[in-house]
Amino acid sequence: MIPTLVVLNAGSSSLKFQVFDMVDRADPELVWRGQYEGLGRAARFRVTQKSGALLDQAEWAAERGIDHEGALMHLVAWLQQYRNERSLVAIGHRVVHGGDAFAAPVLVSDEVVAKLAKLAPLAPLHQPHNLKPMEVAHRRLPTLPQVACFDTAFHHTQSEIATMFALPRTMRDRGVRRYGFHGLSYDYIASVLKDHDPQLAAGKVIVAHLGNGASLCALSGGTSVATTMGFSALDGLPMGTRCGAIDASIVFYMLREMGCTADEAERILYTQSGLLGVSSLSNDMRTLRTHAPSNTEARKAIDLFVYRILRETGSLIAALGGLDGLVFTAGIGENDAATRAAVVAGLTWAGLELDEAANSTGGPKISSSSSASAWVIPTNEELVIARQTRDVISAATLPH
Ligand code: ADP
Repeated sequence: MIPTLVVLNAGSSSLKFQVFDMVDRADPELVWRGQYEGLGRAARFRVTQKSGALLDQAEWAAERGIDHEGALMHLVAWLQQYRNERSLVAIGHRVVHGGDAFAAPVLVSDEVVAKLAKLAPLAPLHQPHNLKPMEVAHRRLPTLPQVACFDTAFHHTQSEIATMFALPRTMRDRGVRRYGFHGLSYDYIASVLKDHDPQLAAGKVIVAHLGNGASLCALSGGTSVATTMGFSALDGLPMGTRCGAIDASIVFYMLREMGCTADEAERILYTQSGLLGVSSLSNDMRTLRTHAPSNTEARKAIDLFVYRILRETGSLIAALGGLDGLVFTAGIGENDAATRAAVVAGLTWAGLELDEAANSTGGPKISSSSSASAWVIPTNEELVIARQTRDVISAATLPH
């Protein structure tokens, strides 16, 4: 029997999963990936081989729709049917917020579930969804080990000063501090940068995770010293639909002068801002690129995105005390050569120089030889969850 892990990433109406075989001491090996979409409405299930070839699919009409619980139990039954020589040994969950308490992945228990549920107000749009499949599996499959893997944990290496807001002490005591997110992605990049350039991996590096969500992380010798996201995943860079860092007084203005409720203000800042809000067209960089030649607002959205990346990069270079290299990752970072070219062009002062031919083909190294290097490295957050899950369950089963 091959011990197998399932990695889950749950959203409000979706459940993405990847199935990994654990072979010897090597990295867990991806077998299948898939997702449930439209949960709670008309739902779809689709699973592909590692190669991308379709393996299976299913649909549920709205009146017979399934929720997260139904999806998870369907997945377990589906795995049973397709398992061949495999035996499911654990589930790894992506959890956006581990708060102050969780600086590392942890085996799920009643106590852990309760502690994580208490963190929901810190990430109201993500945490409750992340926890749904965990609660279901804990209840319905109580003997199957589960591991919670956090987007915040990677940033626990930051100094206390780097995590503070200049707010009253009593607010910090309530957990109002900078946490930072996308830690699973930064963990992956730090782990593979060693293979690309060991000297760079030991130095001062900024990783630009530019996807629908976007943030930058300053790494010193592979550990996080500062990042652009703070208390929530709303902070820092403008994103697909999130505003990024704004003057906090804008929220009071929305509540008092624009007559918004807190929920409406939250919805505008999370779902109607960023690239979508500025362009009034789309949150999708591909669409903006297509329309940019003839659409001023699409151009402005892209220009503001690049401008904010450059401003925040300058801030992180100051936090690092210099820059040895820059790594682009996630949907835009991996695929949009024009964004990478604009960012590198704006960092000539920091010693970066673009190799245009390498950039147009996606690198991995996209800088010409000069004082600092630039790279494109595809991220793999699911692999980090699989690694962490394997490590936690191995440690839990070792004799103490
Ligand atoms: P998520 O944060 O949801 O995981 P992704 O990392 O998939 O997001 O990034 C989505 C973003 O990547 C979108 O803005 C999309 O337009 C952009 N993107 C994906 N492929 C390309 C491409 N070939 N060229 C430009 N942008 C791309």
